[in-house]
Amino acid sequence: MRRERNERARRAAGIALAVALTATAAGCGSAAQTPVSETWDDLFGTVVTVSLYDKMSEKEAGAVLAAIRARGEVIQNTMTAHSPGSEIGAVRAAGGQTPVPVSEDTYGLLTLALEVAALSGGAFDPTVEPLVALWGIGTETAAVPAEADIARARALVDYRRVTLDGAGRTAYLPETGMGLDLGGIAKGYAADEANRLLDEADVAHAILDFGGNVVLRGGHPEGKPWRVGIRKPVLGEDGYACVVSLRDGAVVTSGGYERYFVAADGAVYHHIMDPATGRPAETGLLSATIVCDNSTRADALSTACFVLGLDGALALLDALDGVEGVLIASDRTIHTTPGLADVFAVADERYVWVNAP
Ligand code: ADP
Ligand code: MG
Repeated sequence: MRRERNERARRAAGIALAVALTATAAGCGSAAQTPVSETWDDLFGTVVTVSLYDKMSEKEAGAVLAAIRARGEVIQNTMTAHSPGSEIGAVRAAGGQTPVPVSEDTYGLLTLALEVAALSGGAFDPTVEPLVALWGIGTETAAVPAEADIARARALVDYRRVTLDGAGRTAYLPETGMGLDLGGIAKGYAADEANRLLDEADVAHAILDFGGNVVLRGGHPEGKPWRVGIRKPVLGEDGYACVVSLRDGAVVTSGGYERYFVAADGAVYHHIMDPATGRPAETGLLSATIVCDNSTRADALSTACFVLGLDGALALLDALDGVEGVLIASDRTIHTTPGLADVFAVADERYVWVNAP
């Protein structure tokens, strides 16, 4: 099944890897049939929308939606750093003391997270939790920390120090104060899992949007690809900078505009940390979008690319097969990887596609 999907997406990649950012699959034709759609605003601290475009009974659709929602809740509860009953939280609490047995879900996702951490040289790092907690961005206590506190937290961030033991399926952090944060990858995983449930339910056409982690399925029932808008990442600008058209695949964006606070002096601090500096990543990129067949990987890679900045992101993407990207810099220039050339379009003339074919 997975192989089949990979093949499909790979074929699509040449022609049409599609990206939707935050919900709107723009303009799919006026005669378009209305999807059965549900939106939840209480999962992963974001808005989740599932839209099913197959002809199906209300009962069938209801069952599929309920299964997706239930799966999402399980993923959220086991993998959110600070939710009660969180396995990630339990691993943190036992840091410096003892390995903690975790579910297959958590173990698998940690394994993937560490892989992307290694690939990106630690730009994506699931042990970023002490920095996330210190800055508190997105919470009411967000504030610019003292340098000494930043240095202390930064010293606790290092994915190479995580020990995963497959035999006992345990995770271990060797030092008290170390922690795990899967916020940069868990939504992508939830979207992949939702897509797997759609496989099982034989749903052919659907759009899943887990807070900007979009999974496209089967193209529009009328035969057209889905069109996914990538949001303008400049603070204060609404709407889409560009669009990707694609039938199947994941389109995931990380941007500094999603969650941030403005300090007394007007400086903006967003929620994506650069583990190398201990501060919000400032590389000149305003957003990084990944297009590939796996939303989990795309989620982690989009965060990694945002932290790496334009040159680092292009180098990383160049080294990966079947992974494409759209990088938007603060001067409103857009850089795409070669595989997107035929499926990409600019949607606002103020944005300049610098490597347009
Ligand atoms: P969003 O959650 O807004 O879609 P991302 O996927 O980029 O955006 O994830 C950002 C979240 O990931 C942060 O809120 C934080 O929990 C976590 N995080 C922040 N910096 C990093 C990093 N360098 N590596 C891994 N996770 C990070
Ligand atoms: Mg991410």
